[in-house]
Formats: sequence, C-alpha cells, structure tokens
Amino acid sequence: MNSAVPETMLACVLYGKEDVRLENIPVPDLQPGELLVRVEAALTCGTDLKVFLRGYHERMIQPPSVFGHEFAGEVVISDNLRFPKGTRIVAANSAPCRDCYFCKLDKPNLCRDLLFANGAYAEYVKIPVRIVEENCLALPPDLPAAKAALVEPLACAVKGIEDVNIQPGEKVLVIGAGPLGLMLARLSVLAGAEVTAVDDQAERLAVAAELGAANLVAERLSPQSVKRLRDDFTPHKLGFDCVIEAVGTVQTWNHAVELVRPGGRVNLFGGCPRGTELRVDTTRLHYDEIRIYASFHHTPQTVRRALEFITDSRVPALTLVKEGRSLHDLPKVLQEMRAGTAPPKIAVLPRLPAGARLSAAELEGFSA
Ligand SMILES: [Zn+2]
Ligand SMILES: [Zn+2]
Repeated sequence: MNSAVPETMLACVLYGKEDVRLENIPVPDLQPGELLVRVEAALTCGTDLKVFLRGYHERMIQPPSVFGHEFAGEVVISDNLRFPKGTRIVAANSAPCRDCYFCKLDKPNLCRDLLFANGAYAEYVKIPVRIVEENCLALPPDLPAAKAALVEPLACAVKGIEDVNIQPGEKVLVIGAGPLGLMLARLSVLAGAEVTAVDDQAERLAVAAELGAANLVAERLSPQSVKRLRDDFTPHKLGFDCVIEAVGTVQTWNHAVELVRPGGRVNLFGGCPRGTELRVDTTRLHYDEIRIYASFHHTPQTVRRALEFITDSRVPALTLVKEGRSLHDLPKVLQEMRAGTAPPKIAVLPRLPAGARLSAAELEGFSA
C-alpha cells in the first residue's frame, strides 16, 4: 500500500436499526482501475437517515456496512491517467452499465444493473471502476468539498426539472422543502419560473426564500389548503403550470395531481413506500390532459450539469449545507436529523476534531 496512506481508518459502520458505530477498520483494498479517495467532506442525506432508522437498504446496504454516499475528496491512490494522485474529485453514488437495454436506449437512470457505491462517512472511500469511468469528475481549483459533494443529489433534481421542461414565467408549485424540494425550487427559479413553496416547517421555507421562491406557504397540505393555493396563486384559479412533489407520500402525490392546471405537468419526484398505490381521476388525465412524470435518480449528463451549477454558484450550495461537523459526531448528527433540528444538509468533515462545528461561512474557507 502507498506510504502516505495508513493501514486503518476511522469509519462509521452501520450494524442495524439505529446502531451506528465509529470504528477503526482497514482502508479498502483496490482492484486495478479503482481509486482510493481521502474524503474531504461527506454530506448528510435523508436516505442515510432512512437507512439508519431501518438498519438496511434493499438495493444498497446490508449491515454491517460502511455508508454515506455524497462526498468529495482527493485521490490518494490511482493507476488512472485521468485522475492521478492529488486530483480532487467528486463522484456520484452509482453508475450505469452502458450495456443493457435501457442504457442503449439512452435511459441510463433505468439501467437494470446500476452499480452503487457507499462508504463516504469514513476517512477514505474506494471508487469502483465503473463509477470512475462514468460518474467521477475532477473539481475546479478552489471549489470547497462541502459544495462539490452536493453534486449527487443536485443531479437528481436537475433530471427532475429537465423532465418537465420548465419555461420562463411559468407558475411552479414545489411541495416539500427538504433538501431536494429546495434544490428543485432553486432550479425552477433559474429556469425563470415563479415558484411557490409549501411545507409545514417555517425554517425550511426560509431557505426556499433565500433560494428565490416567490411565495411561501407554511402549511401541511389538506383539501382546504389545496383550494386556497389554487385560488391565491394561480390565474383564474385553475392550478399551477407545473407541480413538483418532493415529499414522497401517496397523500401529497394526490394533492400534486389536484393542484395542476389542465394541460399542465406534474412531477411526482418524491419516492413513496414500496407497495403503495396512486389513484388518478380519469377525467383529469384525459379531458384535462395533464401530464404525469415521476423522475428517478440521475444520469451521467445531469451529474456533469450539477457540477456546473455548483461551480458557477447558480446553485449556492452553502445555502443548503449550513454546517460542518466532525466524523466523530455522525451518530449525534443522525439523531439531530431524526429530531428535525438539523439544517437541510450537514458536511461531515473527517479532518475536523470531535465536537467542532463550522458555519457555512467557515466551510467556504475550510480546506480539508
Ligand atoms: Zn443522497
Ligand atoms: Zn445498463
């Protein structure tokens, strides 16, 4: 092994339901073509919280396992000429096979053999060959890792917005102001839309306002609030040109369909629990000609566009990533996420000492 890289590293290991432990484990072994990356920053994500509370993830994580999947860092071992040692990179959490029916149809997000990687809540992470080839990008100089690590979730939001093709001047409703709802709202603003954001938590809406949402509605959706939203914010009370659901419950999916105008588009972006069903009024679909989309995951193209949005600050990453914390504090951070007291995203920084906290302004200048 490379002399600068130790034999063991600090990593968070998921053992099962609500059981995460900080341990010293061997630094991953590499196969030819793989990269070893020193993690500069890994971001918290709602999926990680779900995995922590449930203890596993059907497609991605069987315990005991390292986890965490949004990260950026520095290549420390490489036999790849594109990413030599010392290159700072961001990598997505998956890559398509390029060989299956859907890959050949140019729908790589539907790849039947998506390869997932995990293990970002650690000092080092290994990047499999396929991700190195498809979804690993060198960072522009000086881009802080805490910003770059937003690429993966933002790439999902970029795909969601491109799928519904938002036009300047359109009235767009974003339901849910969690991290993805906020990114979807920002990208809609950038596309020239007038964005209305609805969420029952005022602090989340405050972030939506920072990102340019024009109208903020602090409510949990109900039949009454659906009517009010349509009456107050849409021409002739007919509904929104486009509605984006970023909560992931059948109830909010239903409300999303109710809130779109005839001829409008709905993106049911938030994934619902397995086995749930949506019932749609056939009149709405046929006579109102509404279009329903449900965007999943990202593609190598949207991963690249996401990095551009972050690099030129059209998406101000540190408006979402509001805090830096130590890897030692990840178990505590997961509890704060669960209690709803955490900011939209937290940058977990392996080089930060236990107990330390950095503000967004300090993250800007923090070099790990
Ligand atoms: Zn994520
Ligand atoms: Zn494929």
